[in-house]
Amino acid sequence: MHAGDEAVAEFQWTTGKVLRFRLLERGTFGDVMFAVERTGGAAREIRMGDFDPLWHTYYPLDHVLENGASSPGPVVIEAGGDTDLLIAHEAGTEAGDSPVQFAIKARSIDVGLTSLVSPYADRSKTWRSPWLHFALGRHVDLLHRDFLDQFAKHKRPQIRYNSWYLQESNHYFSGEPFLAGMSEATMLAEMEAAAIAGVGLFVLDVGWYRSTGDYEWDEERLPGGVERWVREAETRGLELGLWMNPSVAAISSQTLERHLDQRMVRGGEPLPAREIWESELSAPMCLASAYIDVIRSQISRFALAGIKNLKFDGLWPTDYEWAGTWANNSCDSSTHFHGDDADTPEDRARSYANQFSLTLSDLCEYSAELGVSIDIDITEDQRRPNLGTLMYGRYFLINNGPYYSDLGIPESTRIEPNTFNAVFYPGATHSRVIRHSADFNSRFGRLASFGHVLLSDNPKVLANALATSALAGLAVWGRLAELDPATLVAVREYFDRVRLSGALRGTLYSPRRIGASPEIWIAESQDRKARVLFAFSHQSCRVTERIPRGDGDRFQVEGSDGWRLDGDQLVIELDLERDDARTVFLTKLD
Ligand SMILES: [Zn+2]
Repeated sequence: MHAGDEAVAEFQWTTGKVLRFRLLERGTFGDVMFAVERTGGAAREIRMGDFDPLWHTYYPLDHVLENGASSPGPVVIEAGGDTDLLIAHEAGTEAGDSPVQFAIKARSIDVGLTSLVSPYADRSKTWRSPWLHFALGRHVDLLHRDFLDQFAKHKRPQIRYNSWYLQESNHYFSGEPFLAGMSEATMLAEMEAAAIAGVGLFVLDVGWYRSTGDYEWDEERLPGGVERWVREAETRGLELGLWMNPSVAAISSQTLERHLDQRMVRGGEPLPAREIWESELSAPMCLASAYIDVIRSQISRFALAGIKNLKFDGLWPTDYEWAGTWANNSCDSSTHFHGDDADTPEDRARSYANQFSLTLSDLCEYSAELGVSIDIDITEDQRRPNLGTLMYGRYFLINNGPYYSDLGIPESTRIEPNTFNAVFYPGATHSRVIRHSADFNSRFGRLASFGHVLLSDNPKVLANALATSALAGLAVWGRLAELDPATLVAVREYFDRVRLSGALRGTLYSPRRIGASPEIWIAESQDRKARVLFAFSHQSCRVTERIPRGDGDRFQVEGSDGWRLDGDQLVIELDLERDDARTVFLTKLD
């Protein structure tokens, strides 16, 4: 291992061994930090920070890297040579703007830190670097699986519900404020229905609190305080989760008053306060400052109260445009944890963006130790998904489809009601959009990300939603209390059956593109005893899917229209109607 031309460490590699470390001292930024000798295979990258506005999601990119190419990662793999190699880093990236870059050369893969990483010109200050993960072994598939298992072990296959769809649909279809749905009667009815449907985690979205920053319970909307609502959830077999935006504090909040020096600043001026979902103006607070301690103590407070999950929203580490409004959202303070007087304001702002994703990783780890899981909303671009956060947290990856504003529709066209998201309605299309979360999970772990599917009493729509949810991170929303009780029972039975198969963990792959007829996904349990085949269609079609089986392996097959053995293959047959969805269970018999 080399830093520039100087060897700083040597490692004796053993096949299958994994090394994870953090860099404790800065090198010369922009230089090669170290180089790993090539082993004669082909290199490829798996990226996570590319955003597609048409589907409105980050999607994984997995492709070959030629010699001379560079990659932001976060994962680079070399396979097919003497030894397979997997290198990954923690830090976040939006497309190419990564603090860690890989350079693919004929004889080496060089790992470099870009100048963006440097938080301090003053070397005496401590700095927490991104972690780097190295693994060498004979089979790249095993290296990748072991890598993903580290992320999986901190996550439970629990069904999530979130109240936001109900609040939004009230707003768009009945003209009510978003916060009107956050009422005692509505939330108790949703909780009751969620319990019947087998939901494990019930998340109250915006409006349960009096003001951002302080995050005290709103007794007027939800009487009885947090204690009562944790109890209401627990008596129904649910855990309670809460929405919060940790990067804002209301103008009237005590939190802002006490932590004025941790406001985000630009050119010496605090960033302007803005309205957060119909509540009073809130000031942006810098998470790459001592403000992280405020958030830590709030997480502790929630943990003590019995809250099991926090949904972090509104986290943009860079300037961004949302709903047609441009917002400055990077901090260039010289007194926070992202640069000092020796740095330029521009470098401090860039450093803020990089420190921000490390801060989120740290908060996710801290929360996990207290038994609180963190979901981070990255349903817009400029949010920098990263592996560090995924170690303990999860991404709320995709909302109700693309924005009308991203579809090039002329402004003169009237959309009524304007639901903002183009795919705001239950149906096969909504599920198709949400399955991009399955694509993400197939590369970064089965429970890495989720999108909420919309439940419905229509059997075909429900079949699409449930099969999609099993692939796309197990999250549901809708107006549950208005569904037929028989639908809620069917939801529970479906998830119980999939859970029983063991295929909510393990590996996932799709040999087809999302939207194809048929579209096929195959999930395999960690013990490899069960496989579940998920099939979807847009046009009616006949499916003949060949699945490899071990020599002499026998299977029980449930849910197909026909099946047969053909040598070392199991052939599954299905007849799909238009916009259909099917789930087929393949259980290996002893
Ligand atoms: Zn700052």
